[in-house]
Amino acid sequence: MHRISMLDGAELPVNKVMAVGRNYAAHAAEMNAAAEPVIFSKPVTSLVSPGEPIILPRERGSIHYECELLVWLKDGGTNLKAEEAAALVAAYGLGLDLTLRDIQAEAKAKGRPWTLAKGFDGSMPVSRFVPVGAVDNPDQLEFSFTLNDEVKQKGKVSNMILPIGELLSYISQWITLERGDLILTGTPEGVGPVSPGDNALMVLHNHLEQPLHFS
Ligand code: MG
Repeated sequence: MHRISMLDGAELPVNKVMAVGRNYAAHAAEMNAAAEPVIFSKPVTSLVSPGEPIILPRERGSIHYECELLVWLKDGGTNLKAEEAAALVAAYGLGLDLTLRDIQAEAKAKGRPWTLAKGFDGSMPVSRFVPVGAVDNPDQLEFSFTLNDEVKQKGKVSNMILPIGELLSYISQWITLERGDLILTGTPEGVGPVSPGDNALMVLHNHLEQPLHFS
């Protein structure tokens, strides 16, 4: 069983991992893509817990960071309304949706799935998580990603195309959500390459900081 860790050290099980591409208009624009959310999944084996080594693939072309807000669900459902879905969120964290960008571009060109480009082992380093009760105003959450002391990405929940409740509602029209599901809510603009030896910092403003080292 794969798990996430809360700030207080408690551990919660991870069931499945769902993700959305293109949930911020400015990132869709930098990828020359329509600002139309795309749902995909990452295997639970992509998860790297805080403190575990982040080992980047070799000889597979460019690897991009995509820093994203993650939500962990305490319960699930099917065909949920946005308000019902939003109420399932029990914890917030940050993570990287690491992407083999050259492999993904090739898959896009050939009309193939992104699975290997986004689901390889170690493709989702995550922070510790903060309980929903510690977040006064989830609609105002902001986060940032710094690579080698340079701020690369700044994200605001208020800039999402599909807000969290609507995103979860949309997924639940197709795929039943369950307790333990971890959802990546999309990346803001500023994605770019990461290499072995790089150091990074994910910050969920007012809540947590997670240093990362890439090997
Ligand atoms: Mg992403």
